Amino acid sequence: LELSLQHASKLEAVGRLTGGIAHDFNNMLSIVIGNLDLARGSLQDNEKALRRIENAIEGAHRCAELTGRLLAFSRRSPLQPRALDFASFIPGLTKLLARTLGERITISAELDDGLPEICVDHAQFEAALINLAVNARDAMPDGGTLCIHVQGREVPAPEGAESTRCVDITVADTGTGMPPAILARVFEPFFTTKEAGKGTGLGLSMVYGFVQQSGGTITVDSNPGQGTRFVVTLPALDRRSLPSESTDRRPPDDAANAV
Ligand code: ADP
Repeated sequence: LELSLQHASKLEAVGRLTGGIAHDFNNMLSIVIGNLDLARGSLQDNEKALRRIENAIEGAHRCAELTGRLLAFSRRSPLQPRALDFASFIPGLTKLLARTLGERITISAELDDGLPEICVDHAQFEAALINLAVNARDAMPDGGTLCIHVQGREVPAPEGAESTRCVDITVADTGTGMPPAILARVFEPFFTTKEAGKGTGLGLSMVYGFVQQSGGTITVDSNPGQGTRFVVTLPALDRRSLPSESTDRRPPDDAANAV
């Protein structure tokens, strides 16, 4: 699935707009929550009214969570790319995912031998993979398997030039899959099929923006009833272009290839 420049600038405009709206909305919301909290305090013996107020407070907190995400979306902190070694990164991620996704989801992580490092913002890379994993869980309400597979690959170079390497990070699930009409829209900001309060439709557009900013690409394919596969491709870190570190290459870590 190829996505256009138009999408990127739409995303940027949406980011600016939502940031402004979310900020003002959040301020108003804190007034609503503050007053409801006070009202709750003076309603101790009126059970029905108390319940209504508590529901309202809960709803307002959900709104606050949404505006929080919108703010994070529009004010994404600048990327701080650093070398990332998959053999040490993936075990921590799988542990975190096991806790986040729950017992019904089996996680399988597989790393190819001799993987090159990549250069990414670690926190935002992790957030992107969590986003993909949480969507995968939502697509497997009766449980299933989440596969993370990391592979290195040569990128053919134009004649005369040296070929480069990249890394494919595949995140695949055995969930519901998507029909073509939904698949075509998954990276669109605010596109969601989840019920109100459950989805913002911002997850995949954030992942898309992050991958693009990191010099990579993301593709998706999906079959209804069979599952969905996202592939994030990022350029390998070329140690040869870092003269100060060129003599400081670690031996490959074979022990951690299977997690
Ligand atoms: P949200 O999760 O808030 O809905 P996203 O941008 O992360 O927003 O996802 C948009 C939509 O893409 C989801 O609502 C869902 O319909 C679809 N989707 C994303 N990932 C998957 C998946 N792994 N399996 C099936 N559908 C998916």
